[in-house]
Amino acid sequence: MKETFLRNGGYIVKKETIFPFAEDVRYMDCSCGRQVRNVGENAESVKCSRCVDSNLYKQFGEEYEQKQQYKPTGRPAGWHFMNEFVDKDGNVFHKGVEQPKLKGTLEPTKVKPKKKVKRKTKDEILVARHKEKLAAQRQLKKDLDKQKKFLMGDVDKWCVKD
Ligand SMILES: [Zn+2]
Repeated sequence: MKETFLRNGGYIVKKETIFPFAEDVRYMDCSCGRQVRNVGENAESVKCSRCVDSNLYKQFGEEYEQKQQYKPTGRPAGWHFMNEFVDKDGNVFHKGVEQPKLKGTLEPTKVKPKKKVKRKTKDEILVARHKEKLAAQRQLKKDLDKQKKFLMGDVDKWCVKD
């Protein structure tokens, strides 16, 4: 409805002053202030293409970027700084610079498997401590409950006897 449309902040331009100079065009403003042209009368609000794009980026962009960043090379950390490094395909690098002439002439450098023991970060230590504390509290509560039940049981017995 036209009334609802106008109430929702829409407006109708009787004759556009710029191309394509259409008449009676329904407009509505995006929350960012940009005008969105040719809005349906049922629209309660509009989002301009830029805002849609930036929302999509916010939703998926970071995830996408993270995926892009992770590229396992199979090369050890710091191979760039090694005097000589030969990857599993036989490419030879001297201090990270490929030496095409030497390709295939040397044995691949043995890469030591990554140590599985990871040093805990400060945060991880704090979290672990917190968990320990919680567990201790839970155990204490259990003990107290047990004690309470035991006492209550005693009282019950005592009451029955009475
Ligand atoms: Zn916008």
